[in-house]
Amino acid sequence: MYSGSLISSVSNTRRDWNLISFNVNSLNTLLTSKYTIPISDELWKNRHYIQQTRSCNHCHTKKYKTITDEEGNMSKEYYEARTEVPTKDIKIFDERLDYVVSILMKSKTRKAWVCPQCIETNLITETPRTNKEYQSNATFGVIYEKPKYSLSVRASYDRLCMLWLTCFLREIDMGLMAFQKEYFEQHQSGMKEDIKPISHEI
Ligand SMILES: [Zn+2]
Repeated sequence: MYSGSLISSVSNTRRDWNLISFNVNSLNTLLTSKYTIPISDELWKNRHYIQQTRSCNHCHTKKYKTITDEEGNMSKEYYEARTEVPTKDIKIFDERLDYVVSILMKSKTRKAWVCPQCIETNLITETPRTNKEYQSNATFGVIYEKPKYSLSVRASYDRLCMLWLTCFLREIDMGLMAFQKEYFEQHQSGMKEDIKPISHEI
């Protein structure tokens, strides 16, 4: 299924990422418009993270987990954990510092945010962001745009593009499986030959 031109352009020691991009995009269009993987940084970001949060240092939220006992009965166990606020609900602002503190910190302001639950102020430096990310083998039905070349990414450009290609091919695989599934359902009797899954070994 993978085109010979894609394989040869990736195997080349001096990879031409514009050519590879062209080849992989051609492959993508073969999935037909219904299964083609959209290329969008924004959509990728939205689907890729389950949620990004910061934890408030001043309040807790009641949570529960469901426990199943030996007889299969389910019950809820309650516990308290620091309130997690989705980053989209957080407005970061510059908090002005007292004169003395500002001399110590060598800055007139510091970044802070207000917890929507307890209305206390948290400092950005004390509340690191946590990404709840899907597992690395998950697929999202979308791919981010090919990394752009610039002098600052010169050394890592090839590696970044390879990562992009690997993700893209994984998405295309999933699209292909969905495409095949529908195809088989429509042509059940006619298909005898198995279609083998595609390897990502490059
Ligand atoms: Zn709070």
